[in-house]
Amino acid sequence: MADEPNYKSELVGVFGHPVAENPTIVMQEAGFAALGLNWRYLNIEVLPEDLGAAVQGLRAMNFQGINCTIPHKVAVLQYLDDVSTDARLMGAVNTVRRDGKHLIGENTDGKGFLRSLREDAGVDPSGLRIVVLGAGGAARAMTVELALAGASHISIVNRSADRARPLVALLNDNTPTQATYVPWDVIFAIPSDTHVLVNTTSIGLYPNVTDKPNIDYATIKPGMVVCDVIPNPPQTPFLDEAAKRGARTLDGLGMLVNQGAIAFKMWTGHDAPVEAMRTALAAEFGVS
Ligand code: NDP
Repeated sequence: MADEPNYKSELVGVFGHPVAENPTIVMQEAGFAALGLNWRYLNIEVLPEDLGAAVQGLRAMNFQGINCTIPHKVAVLQYLDDVSTDARLMGAVNTVRRDGKHLIGENTDGKGFLRSLREDAGVDPSGLRIVVLGAGGAARAMTVELALAGASHISIVNRSADRARPLVALLNDNTPTQATYVPWDVIFAIPSDTHVLVNTTSIGLYPNVTDKPNIDYATIKPGMVVCDVIPNPPQTPFLDEAAKRGARTLDGLGMLVNQGAIAFKMWTGHDAPVEAMRTALAAEFGVS
């Protein structure tokens, strides 16, 4: 006898404000299609004052999970049943998953970077000296994961001390890594013992695609691994300058794809079809 038809979709998506231009839908829907899953990803506009009601809506409609983007990554914590150790340390959630009746907060941004660093660049951060430009949300997520993965030293290079100092304290107080703050008031020279240099600032993000961080590019040496968080366009002037100096480079597209792939697995239980997701997102961004 033929199976009964099942027209019910499992639902996930993203809460944001604004949310219309968030491209994650493209890679998640490509992943669902590649595995033949009847799942839907929805971009849902949620005002800050409606976030609590929106999370209740997830519960009522039995959503399997949700991504949170600006301005909800911190505020959503108060509405969840539990939060993973790393997301609690970061104080930010970008992915909510369902565990029975419970909604659990996770953060896949730093995990996505770590997986891209390991799998795309072949680099294990354990025991390495890392220099991070920026101290915002992306830096917080990435440095917590780098520290938990055993990075020996992390320098946080940032314009404003009020964002950098709490991050340095958080890393020193909660992880085995040694973190230091470096004020970024003049052109920054990369220390010669640096293994991995990461731009986590928004410098170079569309439409300011010709901008690059104010560092002394002559101090980038062959053997260093240089990474950018900017996913679109992924080949940034920062990475071009690094490649010219013989450094290995890692773009932000891999981080974006991998943080989505980790969320995909948390939600569906299936290993994500990473290449199908990467191809869809690259096509959306007009890169090969
Ligand atoms: P935040 O606003 O939280 O932080 C921005 C950081 O950039 C701050 O440290 C800020 O310094 C610094 N910054 C901005 N402009 C300048 C400048 N002109 N000179 C020096 N420093 C500057 O943003 P997020 O951390 O959330 O995001 C940063 C970038 O990471 C964005 O472009 C985002 O798209 C990208 N991202 C990529 C992801 C991926 O998967 N590839 C995932 C998440 C984010 P200050 O503190 O002094 O203001």
